[in-house]
Amino acid sequence: MKNLIDVQNLSLKFKTDEGLITAVDNVSFSIAQGEILGLVGESGSGKSVTAKSIMRLNPGNAVYSNDTKVFLNLEGQDPIDIMQLKTAKEMKVARGGAISMIFQEPMASFAPAISIGDQMVEQLLIHTDYNAKQAKKYSIEMLDRVGISDADKRFSQFAFELSGGMRQRAMIAMALSTKPKLLIADEPTTALDVTIQLQVIDLMKDLVKEFGMAILFITHDLGVIAQTADKVAVMYLGKLIEKGEVRDVLRNPSHPYTQGLIDALPRLDNLDAPLKAIKGDIPSPLERPNGCIFHTRCPKDMVTACRNIVPDFTALNPKHEAACHLINKEATS
Ligand code: SF4
Repeated sequence: MKNLIDVQNLSLKFKTDEGLITAVDNVSFSIAQGEILGLVGESGSGKSVTAKSIMRLNPGNAVYSNDTKVFLNLEGQDPIDIMQLKTAKEMKVARGGAISMIFQEPMASFAPAISIGDQMVEQLLIHTDYNAKQAKKYSIEMLDRVGISDADKRFSQFAFELSGGMRQRAMIAMALSTKPKLLIADEPTTALDVTIQLQVIDLMKDLVKEFGMAILFITHDLGVIAQTADKVAVMYLGKLIEKGEVRDVLRNPSHPYTQGLIDALPRLDNLDAPLKAIKGDIPSPLERPNGCIFHTRCPKDMVTACRNIVPDFTALNPKHEAACHLINKEATS
């Protein structure tokens, strides 16, 4: 499968009064057409900043490293490095054109005083050749397609008039109406009831098949990843620490942090088993540990290298790799 997105050496710092704060450090991954990549990690791990970098949506105090590359590979075109796009016109391809984004809280995506339909039509007028009549017809079709009943009536309603699940569907309809090649979904199910969560996940999987698009699915919930993703990348304090096929990583987690995330999940087959939390808290980005970024919380931090040398990725199989000195024996011997 051809890679739709190739993120290479993404590093980003924010300029603040306290100085430059590292938010993402040398992150690389790719997503093929029709593939779902889950990006997991605790709050503050840099998942959302990474996702927003693909659309260059981070605030103005974000400083990218010079070797950051985000290639968008569209059929029949030369690769586009999104980091090199300059004008608003050039950026259209990455913002609502080939790439769309949905958020945890749909209210943040819809303007409260403009009807859902008018917002969908406006987006289509910007990104497609539709006239206003065609855009309205297609918007209603999309609302219907994502399972919103009485779509023509909902078209004229405002976001606050819809239930949480329906708002989420309307946001997905709006994001998909421009037929993006990549949908970035930032915690899209976190604020929903479990039953609605399942409906939204099923809907997204159906749409991947129907539209052949790729999804970058951001969540802190490994259960959602297991149900949804083909591949998973685990992030901690701005760094990727393990990545691979979802089955490999979840069945054979090799980085102590991934193992900790999995051990912390409640087990329905043994309700008496105590929950095992990962000790401590994610450090402040102002106090990033030297060496392995996880060493201040790692139960296996026993080798000197852990505190002094940043571990490289080591392949566990051709599609699964993790960055830990205990795997990379050469660093510890
Ligand atoms: Fe733990 Fe050391 Fe591996 Fe880091 S490199 S995860 S500190 S064992």
